[in-house]
Amino acid sequence: MRLKDKVAIITGAASGIGKATAILFAAHGAKVVVADIDENGGNRTVTDIQAVNNEAIFVQTDVTIKADTDQMVAQTLKNYGKLDTLLNSAGIAMRLPVAELPEEDWHRCLDVNLNGVFLCAKAAIPAMQKNGGGSIINMSSIYGIVGADVRAAYVASKGAVTNLTRGMALDYAEDNIRVNCICPGFVETPLVAGVIKTPDEYQKLANKHPMRRLGQPEEIAYGALYLASDESAFVTGIALPIDGGYTAG
Ligand code: NAD
Repeated sequence: MRLKDKVAIITGAASGIGKATAILFAAHGAKVVVADIDENGGNRTVTDIQAVNNEAIFVQTDVTIKADTDQMVAQTLKNYGKLDTLLNSAGIAMRLPVAELPEEDWHRCLDVNLNGVFLCAKAAIPAMQKNGGGSIINMSSIYGIVGADVRAAYVASKGAVTNLTRGMALDYAEDNIRVNCICPGFVETPLVAGVIKTPDEYQKLANKHPMRRLGQPEEIAYGALYLASDESAFVTGIALPIDGGYTAG
């Protein structure tokens, strides 16, 4: 029970890494607010959590809309009375280089992956200040540390998330609000399923990682569990790779 009595909002918790983390946090005693644009998926996550007698609610949230992110925090306080942790996992992929990338796709990627983190943090920080502190965890990427081809908007958004994490960590350290990010390598979720259609394609992607495989959502969730728990009470401003060695070389 590493998160006993803690209240956590997890965006993007209808699927993939966010969902795995919501289930893990709830299993460790947290009351979890599943925040996602996808109502059916979000409700499925809540059902899975409640099926084993753990605690969660769904709040439909588009992280690009300020009224939604304000409502997400308001509903959390109404239901659970406080906020300890915000995990920003909502995100989208965008696979094109600059010259071919439609302007609206560039804006959409930055809107969800970067502005969404800004809006959720902006809504959450006053509640955390009132609570005497908190933990914000941003889901960046290996591409928040190193570059990559054919992903101009995605690498720009994740590079910005990594450095926004550091900036927020410095701004709110004295409020005891810790801000860290996780930088996953490729993880087997619906986000990457689209680029793996054959065993060959899997192996090609796996071979980019020294451990020669992709990660599982639960392997990222355990990093988030550490950063949400009091075990990491002196940890702020870090970018934690969980990537099978991808960024070590
Ligand atoms: P996923 O597609 O399985 O889940 C993303 C979730 O975000 C979905 O439930 C989706 O509905 C939600 N979402 C999308 N737009 C939203 C919006 N505007 N408002 C609210 N929710 C919205 O993806 P995933 O693989 O679990 O990725 C989670 C995070 O991890 C993303 O930020 C992604 O960039 C990052 N990441 C993933 C990988 C990977 O290989 N899967 C690697 C590095 C980083």
